[in-house]
Amino acid sequence: MDDRITELRGYEILDSRGNPTLAVRATLGDGSVGLARVPAGASTGVHEARELRDGGRRYGGKGVRQAIAHVDGVIGPAVAGRSARDQRGLDETLVHLDGSEQKERLGANALLGVSLAVATAAAHALGLPLYRYWGGSQAATLPVPQLNVLNGGAHADNNIDLQEFMLLPVGASSFHEAMRMASETYHALQARLRAAHLRTAVGDEGGFAPDLGSDEEALDLLVAAIGDAGLRAGEDVALGVDAAVSAFYRDGRYHLRERALTAEQLIDWYAQLADAYPIVSLEDGLGEDDWEGWQVLNQRLGDRLQIVGDDIFVTNPDRLERGIREQAANAILIKLNQIGTVTETFDTMAMAARAGWRAVVSHRSGETEDTVIADLACATNAGQLKSGAPARSERVAKYNRLLLMEQEDPGLRYAGRGALAR
Ligand code: PGA
Ligand code: ZN
Repeated sequence: MDDRITELRGYEILDSRGNPTLAVRATLGDGSVGLARVPAGASTGVHEARELRDGGRRYGGKGVRQAIAHVDGVIGPAVAGRSARDQRGLDETLVHLDGSEQKERLGANALLGVSLAVATAAAHALGLPLYRYWGGSQAATLPVPQLNVLNGGAHADNNIDLQEFMLLPVGASSFHEAMRMASETYHALQARLRAAHLRTAVGDEGGFAPDLGSDEEALDLLVAAIGDAGLRAGEDVALGVDAAVSAFYRDGRYHLRERALTAEQLIDWYAQLADAYPIVSLEDGLGEDDWEGWQVLNQRLGDRLQIVGDDIFVTNPDRLERGIREQAANAILIKLNQIGTVTETFDTMAMAARAGWRAVVSHRSGETEDTVIADLACATNAGQLKSGAPARSERVAKYNRLLLMEQEDPGLRYAGRGALAR
């Protein structure tokens, strides 16, 4: 088998918001091909790897022609002839070629496209699905989905402070049961909104963004919708929250819509919510550089909630190492494009696992039809996948990939409640 990289080509395609993004095709000596498409965030953390955008007027400055030129003209020639199965060697070469602090020189989008396209081509060359290529016989777990169905914060113009309310069907006995529970709850929620003459238009991740009086009202609505679907809130379907408060932090306070709270006061509020509602997971409860606050948050609530760091860790092993040392959380959100290569992502996940932390593999708010995160979650037995509502094809594509895998591969089991940290 000739698994040497013979060609890399970049293409400009569109993401789910209609913004340009990068597709990369890798071709190997035996003719195997791998195609990867790169996602893009909106509420990006300041410590993330940087995607390269063209600037100027074309596509409002968001074009990726320079990133494509780097794939075709710089990275391709530099890695031609390498074995596609040496992912670590390839990714080290990519990081070295780029040489900048946050991968802004060649662009994290160019690097990730290449890293993923080569992995996909290698899997094809071996005749394996990507999750088996990555996970071997140890890939055994279908993740609990975290489905964002209701939105507030910076993502909506309603009166809700928290950015994302998610359904976690922890009580299901299989992945397809989990998706049925989530879908029926989503439709029950839609019916309630309609009956109350509230908006049912959906946001970037497929969640609703109705005008509600408060965050508590949003949580009440979710608990009621779970009941309408004939399910038990907490037992069958639990709740998760992504507070995403990084952008609200100024001068020692979190400036919510109508309140300015210290970290301590915000934590008190989370504790009240956790008492009153079946919340099992809290993401970005505090800001991306509020390390002291995170320690207090994890001390106060880490024994009853999964405390997930997204913007604070940005899938970065150095930041995760500090988080582990300071016991700042008990779980990490994993986004490939926050760090920029497959190998660094695996290293971060391995570090989290060694510390006994949980990992939640995640989409971005700007997605494509690419389903690589479903394979990543399964290959690593992460046990959790955050991919938006059970609506909008770029979200559902990931869930559909897992639905097919479950039916085709008897070696895979649904992770269930035990996947969560607590
Ligand atoms: P993003 O948001 O993809 O726009 O960064 C999602 C999140 O905060 O988890
Ligand atoms: Zn987040």
